Amino acid sequence: MQVESIINFIENWAPPGAAWDKDNVGLQVGSKKSEINNILISLELTEAVLKQAIKKSCNFIFTHHPFLFKPLSRIDTQSDPKGRIIKILLQNDVTVYSAHTNLDFTKNGVSFTLAKQLGLMNIRFLVNQESNQYKLVVFVPEAAAEKVSDAIFSSGGGIIGEYSNCGYRTNGKGSFKGSAESNPKIGEKEKLEYVDEVRLEVLVDCWKLSSVIKNMIVVHPYEEPAFDIYPLKNKNVNYGFGAIGELEQALNQKSFMQSVDKALKAKNLRYSKWKVSSIKRVAVCGGSGMELLNAAINAGADAFVTADIKYHTFEEAEDKILLIDAGHYETEVIVLNQVKKEFEKFIRSKGENIKVYKYSGSTNPVKYF
Ligand SMILES: [Zn+2]
Repeated sequence: MQVESIINFIENWAPPGAAWDKDNVGLQVGSKKSEINNILISLELTEAVLKQAIKKSCNFIFTHHPFLFKPLSRIDTQSDPKGRIIKILLQNDVTVYSAHTNLDFTKNGVSFTLAKQLGLMNIRFLVNQESNQYKLVVFVPEAAAEKVSDAIFSSGGGIIGEYSNCGYRTNGKGSFKGSAESNPKIGEKEKLEYVDEVRLEVLVDCWKLSSVIKNMIVVHPYEEPAFDIYPLKNKNVNYGFGAIGELEQALNQKSFMQSVDKALKAKNLRYSKWKVSSIKRVAVCGGSGMELLNAAINAGADAFVTADIKYHTFEEAEDKILLIDAGHYETEVIVLNQVKKEFEKFIRSKGENIKVYKYSGSTNPVKYF
């Protein structure tokens, strides 16, 4: 299996187009055309992670945090750890790929995994992404409507939540008159023509728009296919920030904190003062989720579990919600189990015999005293 196959699989699950625009997701070092031996997954790429990858014959490393984030002005292979890593990667033909905020913002990504780990049910996004979809409207002769809609759906258009092939059709009459230079598929040049057409409407995520249009044009019978693209303000139900759900049974504060501690193997929980005794609805965000505090309060969450919380944010949360900082590493590292499971399922479905290892050490840069 080539690296490209697993990348296509990841990007179908966590599209780079859904990532934060300043992020650096995708291929970091290496080649999409390499044949994969084994795979190692880790939150970050360090020298210890690379050493383990080579020991286990892994020539594909998946990381959550991008290995290359800031632009490099030099590659010092002696005194800079990044430079040393790049040298070993290239010498050993190892490819590195990162899915960061695209894995945060997708279903069954970082925050959904965290929610599941804490035992939440009915998990949904805390805040949906919005304004990242278009309405594509295509005018097509009735006889070709099926072929054109198939091309749009098979290119990823028309997905709403758990439903695919979502479209809407109205019948009408299209008109056109080709010039002397035209080459109409229906009717004759320089003659006004009326055709029974279908107006086909489909939602398309912005990162899929160009390939949907390209594939639609290939099967559309007209020399000049007529179509409109409308930007939408809609919330995108498939992508969002953080997650929210409910515990099967309400817990008191102490029991809830004990369960968070146990589920995340947290070494240290920092939390805000809170008076209410029972916790049922819980919001989460793996990694830095401080900006979602008000969304969690407005969604009626009793508790919000995230990381990287500042002093004044604890103050803001006081008596409004039980705000818990469970650690950046601790709230994210669990997603590797999900990534491993998804990779293994995909590899099995292709009948391949590639092993997927999770880095056995810790890459947490924070130490606890
Ligand atoms: Zn992170």
